[in-house]
Amino acid sequence: MSIQNNVKFSDFPLRETIHQSIRQAGYECPTPIQAACIPPALEGKDVIGLAQTGTGKTAAFAIPIIQRLTGRPELGALVLAPTRELAAQTTVMFDQLGKSSGIRVATIVGGVPMEEDDESLRSWPNVLVATPGRLNDHIENGRVLLAEIEVLVVDEADRMHDMGFIPQIRRILAALPKKRQTMMFTATLPGDVEQIARKSMRDPVRIQIGQCAPAHRARQELFELAEEAKGPLLMKLLAKTTGRVLVFVRTRRGVERLARTINSRRFKALRIHGDLEQVRRDRALADFRNGLCHILVATDIAARGLDISDIEHVINYDFPHNAEDYIHRIGRTARLDASGLATSFITRDDSRFVKYVRNLIGDKLPPPTRLESYVASTPKAMGPRRSPSRGSRRRTGSRKQ
Ligand code: AMP
Repeated sequence: MSIQNNVKFSDFPLRETIHQSIRQAGYECPTPIQAACIPPALEGKDVIGLAQTGTGKTAAFAIPIIQRLTGRPELGALVLAPTRELAAQTTVMFDQLGKSSGIRVATIVGGVPMEEDDESLRSWPNVLVATPGRLNDHIENGRVLLAEIEVLVVDEADRMHDMGFIPQIRRILAALPKKRQTMMFTATLPGDVEQIARKSMRDPVRIQIGQCAPAHRARQELFELAEEAKGPLLMKLLAKTTGRVLVFVRTRRGVERLARTINSRRFKALRIHGDLEQVRRDRALADFRNGLCHILVATDIAARGLDISDIEHVINYDFPHNAEDYIHRIGRTARLDASGLATSFITRDDSRFVKYVRNLIGDKLPPPTRLESYVASTPKAMGPRRSPSRGSRRRTGSRKQ
């Protein structure tokens, strides 16, 4: 993304240690969401940021929090993230920008033993980054005291909504001091989220950053083909790509099957989905990030928050049933200044989902190329075998990621 504004970080009244960390991170100018969000956030105002990952939103809330909490002993800020991966990345950002200001950050997420959380909570953090379920466990057990929280960030609130976290968030809100600054970041505002914002925020400053920013940058292509022809086309694309490839599949079982198929060819693929233990998810991400393996097969869980800078190619092996997921998926490539390619496979069953995306981003979504030879059933398919229930793909939204 070209950063087109005349704002400079030096325009913000930040501590010198923070300016130094920003320079060390290599950020030259604020991104649009940072330019719009940092000033009101520094003034302690509530903020609703309508922006997605890839826009620089994490630093947009981290910088004002670091400024506010530097030199203070208490746990003053809570950041809620929908997934462990996003929580991990947010923690890294706080470390990167806040460590030299003495900011201590702790992360508590599901999937790791509770004792590890106790250890991080004992480190007297200033900032707590948490997923809602695990935080509620701690609140119920009285293991975490939120009485001094002055700043709450609800990150990717729309995702929290999709994942059924709204009741958890309500419980957390009830445990927080009423007098606080609240910042919410979301790509869309589903009804429940808007209601939470209305009830729990004071006169928020609303900031909307081009909804489809990542979609502008990634080159997109769509292929219309038969379900069983996806495998052969995928292998061709994998053979052509030398950089990192992220392949999206709709279900956990689908990820397992496709990763196996790819590995049985001459490629090596990692996999990540919600059924895998945290250590295995972390290891897959680390191996993908450090280049040990350049193919990652994932459910949408990896679409949000995953911050790996140079993904060359995103392949929607299964087209998403939710238009925002499309934006998030293709936003994994073309992060900030990079450009990338997003290829989507669509079958006849997908036409209405393609329409949803077109309604959202208009003609930035190119027309599909019909692969005639692939549309007609290929006799010996090499794609992953379908389970019998696969025919009922029209039932949307209930599959586990
Ligand atoms: P986010 O949207 O917070 O996930 O950030 C996406 C990526 O942008 C991360 O890799 C950040 O390190 C990077 N980033 C954040 N702010 C800036 C900036 N002002 N200039 C360049 N890169 C940035």
